[in-house]
Amino acid sequence: MHLKRLELKGFKSFPTKTEINFNEGITAIVGPNGSGKSNISDAVRWVLGEQSIKSLRGDKLEDVIFAGTVDKKPMNYCEVALTIDNSDEKLNIDFSEVTIKRRAYRNGESGFFLNDKACRLKDIKELLLDTGIGKDGYSIIEQGKVDEILSNNPANRRKVFDEACGISKYRYKKLEAEKNLKNTKENLERIEDVYIEIE
Ligand code: ATP
Repeated sequence: MHLKRLELKGFKSFPTKTEINFNEGITAIVGPNGSGKSNISDAVRWVLGEQSIKSLRGDKLEDVIFAGTVDKKPMNYCEVALTIDNSDEKLNIDFSEVTIKRRAYRNGESGFFLNDKACRLKDIKELLLDTGIGKDGYSIIEQGKVDEILSNNPANRRKVFDEACGISKYRYKKLEAEKNLKNTKENLERIEDVYIEIE
């Protein structure tokens, strides 16, 4: 499994469609200060479901949408698509290539897509569990991340190890099962109330 391609349109400083292909091995992105290198890693985090605009170095939701320049009008929406090669079937989905896409409009509308089919953020989170790729995964080590991991409290530091060991998935499934159990209990209580009323 490896990152194959990143496509940006209207994201931060990339108004026109920009495609970055990642070959196997190391890819280095170089450029002068302010040319948009960090915006590329912001795009990767955003498409994987980052909800905190602060951690994408913005203040409000629409800060991820191209704001315009003297000679280019602002965009009304932005879109980022990330394509992963899944020929080794590490991702539990029946496709050898998986494209995760996120789109957002200035009016606040937004959505996620998995191979061009609308989906929920939850579907993407579940697909990427234990791969290290998710927005909180360790596949993106930004400035200050190593320090953050080292100075984290033990519970938060453990999350990094859980993800690497493949335990996060089970922790997540346990929480989901507990939620379902709670809902079912509440439904049963409600049925009992109705039953008593009818009797
Ligand atoms: P450095 O090497 O200094 O860290 P960098 O190459 O990582 O720089 P970025 O921080 O990725 O550069 O990009 C900063 C540029 O992106 C700035 O010129 C900023 O104006 C532009 N930018 C950020 N958000 C938007 C937006 N919504 N619309 C248009 N341009 C934007």
